[in-house]
Amino acid sequence: MKILKFGGTSVGSAQSIQTLLNILKKEGEVKAGADQPVVVLSAMSGVTNLLIAMAEDAAKGNDFTPQLADLEKRHFEIVKALLEIRDQNPALTRLKINFNHLEELLQGILTLRELTPKTRDLVLSYGERCSALMISKIAAQYMPAVFVDASEVIKTDSSFGQAKVNTELTEQLIRGLYQENKGKVLFVTGFIASNDEGQITTLGRGGSDYTAAIFGAALNASEIQIWTDVNGMMTADPRMVKKAFSLTELTYTEAMELSYFGAKVIYPPTMIPAFLKKIPIVIKNTFEPGFEGTIIQHVCKPSNLAIKGISSINNISILNVEGSGMVGKSGFSGRLFSLLAREQINVILITQSSSEHSITFAVSPGDTERARRVIEQEFELELLAKKLEHVDIEKDLAILAVVGENMKETPGVSGKLFHSLGRNGVNVRAIAQGSSEYNISVIVSSHDLAKALNAVHDAFFVQLTKTLYAFCLGTGNIGKTLFKQLNGHTQFLHDNNGIQVKIAGISNTRKMVFNEDGISLDNWEETLNQSNEQADLSTFIAKMKDLNLPNCVFIDNTASPKPITFYEEILKSTISIVTCNKIGNSGSYQQYKTFRDSARQHGVDFFYETNVGAGLPIIRTLKDLMNSGDRVQKIEAILSGTISFLFNNFKGDANFHDTVKLAQEKGYTEPDPRDDLRGTDFMRKMLILARDAGYALEASDVSIQSMLPQASLDATSVDDFYQTLIAEDAYFADIKNRAEADGKVLRYIGKLEDGKASITLEMVDENHPFYMLSGSDNIISFTTDRYKERPLVVKGPGAGAEVTAAGVFADLINVGAN
Ligand code: ADP
Ligand code: ASP
Ligand code: MG
Repeated sequence: MKILKFGGTSVGSAQSIQTLLNILKKEGEVKAGADQPVVVLSAMSGVTNLLIAMAEDAAKGNDFTPQLADLEKRHFEIVKALLEIRDQNPALTRLKINFNHLEELLQGILTLRELTPKTRDLVLSYGERCSALMISKIAAQYMPAVFVDASEVIKTDSSFGQAKVNTELTEQLIRGLYQENKGKVLFVTGFIASNDEGQITTLGRGGSDYTAAIFGAALNASEIQIWTDVNGMMTADPRMVKKAFSLTELTYTEAMELSYFGAKVIYPPTMIPAFLKKIPIVIKNTFEPGFEGTIIQHVCKPSNLAIKGISSINNISILNVEGSGMVGKSGFSGRLFSLLAREQINVILITQSSSEHSITFAVSPGDTERARRVIEQEFELELLAKKLEHVDIEKDLAILAVVGENMKETPGVSGKLFHSLGRNGVNVRAIAQGSSEYNISVIVSSHDLAKALNAVHDAFFVQLTKTLYAFCLGTGNIGKTLFKQLNGHTQFLHDNNGIQVKIAGISNTRKMVFNEDGISLDNWEETLNQSNEQADLSTFIAKMKDLNLPNCVFIDNTASPKPITFYEEILKSTISIVTCNKIGNSGSYQQYKTFRDSARQHGVDFFYETNVGAGLPIIRTLKDLMNSGDRVQKIEAILSGTISFLFNNFKGDANFHDTVKLAQEKGYTEPDPRDDLRGTDFMRKMLILARDAGYALEASDVSIQSMLPQASLDATSVDDFYQTLIAEDAYFADIKNRAEADGKVLRYIGKLEDGKASITLEMVDENHPFYMLSGSDNIISFTTDRYKERPLVVKGPGAGAEVTAAGVFADLINVGAN
């Protein structure tokens, strides 16, 4: 025979009760002569919480009647919806009697202004009593159904709120009851029991699951089914981790550990009776009955996953007890924890430093102050003798636990856990590893919990896609193109790299917009324009930090100095940066260094491949050379795609002004073309290369031979500048003619040699390796200790929105890759 337990959400509405009955007809094998199933029911969803609130309200002298009326109405409506009219009256009458009793009870609490744990349990019992009564009546239309108040058969001690079961007596009573009702389906109240004096007790929040297991064990059931509102036990709480997925199997120990650390889907004690009698527990979804769910049993098939799941308890406090009086005193922790047990303070987790100088333990917030008080009372003498410090309390914390029996055999689990937390800037306050090695628990701040859960989930379940959350600044050519490329490549990234990029924020100089679930790239422009948030860079950054998302990346697609002032703060907030903006890296050397130090210290990436040669692999190549112990002797390069374009087009009849205009129209220039022509942009690139090659240069150390006449250099605006190009036509024509007369071409060449950087305008003949260069191509040759005879050359298009955006894209995908 089977036990079927339906949780609060499965009995929350007429519709779900109808679904429940359908499941029961199918699963329950209600056949004459066969062993009938037992159905265990929770209170309707939210009812237990409501009963607590009403009782607490009454104890404070507040009116509870409107809530009570609501409660009554909820039950009555279901009876009216699901029961034949002629059968309604008896059911309504019995429910009404329950509500009258409940009202009297609450009235008593109101009069006395006192709510004892005993009375509280009595109040709570009405939730299950009403739901089970109501459903038994409805079910009786289809099967021989009988209502059972479990308090008549589950006998416990008098620890109200969390009573301990007298197993022997209970099992005997349950068997007797089942015998007496042979052929009938029992509809049993979950959660409630009674002590020797017949006073109502409860089995702890979520305790209906436990009721099911108690019945299962007593009746040697073949299976205990827990019907709830999710697809079984999942790798994490699906409300917190969207990518959580269902587990097919778990051992009793794994299920116990996961549920102990917060996986509410099953109440931890449930596993004990089932474990002792080797009865499998199956967690199923009432709203998707076809889904096979999770089976909890003794032995599971081997799995190659290091962990089974991650669970968490939010909102805990930790107490730290510290002092020399504890060292080597074996009785100390015994005294401490028996004191807490005596005071009924539930200790969720304990860690002790190896020096035995301190013990840290976690409790619920409600117990925090009381725990401190009783400890300070108990250890008053030690405190006076200064052998113990005052108890230290830290609040607003959470526990995150990774669980799985495979952990024992898999090295590196804790490394992976701490790496993913560290990388996301989650500070770990305390650590505990069960000696069984079935779980590792860490205490983090409540504020970081969602981020931590998602980051750890991404790290362990690598077969799933990893989500990068990007905040993008700048919607000019590069920003726009990046979005287009990302949009077109989503499926590929998902299938081949297991990466999902969510654009969580976009800002240009006018508007900004945020969406944690990812802004759709099909219509990001409309979304941004329609946003009612005016752009403000510091608000954008503050919001990005506040959202506290895992694997977070800030993308700077601007050429503005403003975002640079935030880089350090961003990196320190453990957010990676991908940037095509050269201003940051070409500012002071001190600043250049700060960015790298901050990124390293906080374990995040700072990628800027597109600072030099757009999407060409120049920075990466140089870094690989340096990291593998090579040394740069010389760099020669043409790194201004703009100037390459100009010199490749400024020939024959062409005039300089028109050639520059054309370059700008094609998007090959910086927004202000003077940045390119003055050599400023090229200088920045040379400076970044020199620094990456290990030289602590400043901008003023790069000598630049200008290719512009003084008048053009003096121009005060872009328009003005274009005017000077017309006026100085002869100057440019002269340079062009001289080169052409000698069969040479003009090349603007950057050089780094012996730590000195320069940029010069040269006329090179066909024997020079840079002679053959077309379009806006860049070329760079690295002469190093290893590439001495023939330099390592990288060549290709070094400007344009497509290739630059592609470089930013590649950097983004590389974030967190190692
Ligand atoms: P019921 O009313 O059926 O007893 P509960 O609310 O007690 O249901 O438990 C089910 C809920 O547990 C789910 O809705 C889910 O939000 C939560 N939960 C937490 N952790 C997990 C997990 N690891 N797997 C599945 N559900 C989980
Ligand atoms: N109704 C009780 C609670 O909400 C027991 C249960 O649903 O399992 O805690
Ligand atoms: Mg539950």
